[in-house]
Amino acid sequence: MALRFYNTLTQELEVFKPLIGNTVRMYTCGPTVYNFVHIGNFRTFTFQDILRRWLRYRGYELNHVMNVTDVDDKIIVNAAKEGRSIEEYTAEFTRAFFEDAAQLRLEQPEHVSLATKHIPAMVNAIEKLAAKGYTYESEGSIYFRIAKFPQYGKLSHNDFSGIRAGARVDVDEYDKADARDFVLWKARKEGERYWETPFGDGRPGWHIECSAMAMEYLGDTLDIHAGGVDLTFPHHENEIAQSESITGKPFARFWLHSEHLQIESQKMSKSLGNFFTLRDLLNMDYAPEAIRYLLAQVPYRKKLNFTFDGLKAAARSIERLRDFELRIQSAKLQPGRSNEATERSEEAIRRFEASMDEDLNTAEALAAVFEYIRATNTALDEGQVKEDNRWEAARVLEIFDKVFDVLSPTPSSATLSDAAIEAKIEERKQAKSARNFALADEIRTLLLENGVILEDTKDGVRWKRK
Ligand SMILES: [Zn+2]
Repeated sequence: MALRFYNTLTQELEVFKPLIGNTVRMYTCGPTVYNFVHIGNFRTFTFQDILRRWLRYRGYELNHVMNVTDVDDKIIVNAAKEGRSIEEYTAEFTRAFFEDAAQLRLEQPEHVSLATKHIPAMVNAIEKLAAKGYTYESEGSIYFRIAKFPQYGKLSHNDFSGIRAGARVDVDEYDKADARDFVLWKARKEGERYWETPFGDGRPGWHIECSAMAMEYLGDTLDIHAGGVDLTFPHHENEIAQSESITGKPFARFWLHSEHLQIESQKMSKSLGNFFTLRDLLNMDYAPEAIRYLLAQVPYRKKLNFTFDGLKAAARSIERLRDFELRIQSAKLQPGRSNEATERSEEAIRRFEASMDEDLNTAEALAAVFEYIRATNTALDEGQVKEDNRWEAARVLEIFDKVFDVLSPTPSSATLSDAAIEAKIEERKQAKSARNFALADEIRTLLLENGVILEDTKDGVRWKRK
């Protein structure tokens, strides 16, 4: 069976292959670093991680670019409130984002591009649009004239034919179905960070960022552009208008959008008190891999209802997987091979692959794995699994974990406070001076298991977290 994705642009499931050679050129909209990233956004980033891993499993190389929006309306407001520069302000949240992403085991894209480091590419794109007559200036800002791009609306499948010419919008995010000329370059405002350009001082709009950086790294036509469903309009619609007006070529062949996440069947919002960052959940002592599992288990085009019961169930599912892994590793088995067991493993892999190939149906893929575990446990109870079947079962888990990546436990370094570590080191020192080396070693091992590394130096013991 062929790998197929649902393409928002055509509203159909289509067979996917990269346009050129074996490399998938992919762009995903990254975080706007004005705060800690919430769990709804991490659903999108987890979907993109699963997508990356499955493309690689299918033998493709990846050239994946993700932007970091480190200048925008919210950043400017928040940084000013704290009396900090936007550079200082965004550096902290950019670092936090990548720490969170690492906790969720999200792979790093091949290129992470900061908007503020790519201003010349954006200026260049705006100049090209201006030369072709797609822009106009008003009060120092530059706008894109959407009436000049008749295909506007083709991604979100909205009919914008009746829009008012000349109506324009200065903010980056605006209401659905409210198509207006959008801002490419915002005129300099007193006290705001600005860049000098031939068409005036100011800063880029959000939409031009993605078009300019995507084309700079990936060329005129991308294989895949992905993001959360809320970006379809206006953001992605605007990216298409800008890019295709410049190149005259399709901007992206496949558009993949992940659905919203709800919390306990409600829209997540600060006012409802159900707004969670990843850090909030980790502070409640949920394991990052359980959160990853919960975010990954619902196919990306379905709404995900995030519940705390669901999170506990995810942790139990991981336990079952780990128990099975241990059983397979350590079971005493008769020599030889059971053909039935071989066939069961092969069938599980076939089903897993077919489910993932069908627009990343993670729910079906997991069902295949759990049915396999159930049947194999029964066969183990009955002595129907032989020594030569052991590696076959291990391979089912290995394939599963290449995508889901939840089998290895996260070291719980965060649970030991600095004071607790110092206390343990003191305890070890005393054990050593009492020549109780076994205890001293035990303490060292315990700390290591908690992600703390000790170094004995001539000035005493130094420690660091892994
Ligand atoms: Zn974007």
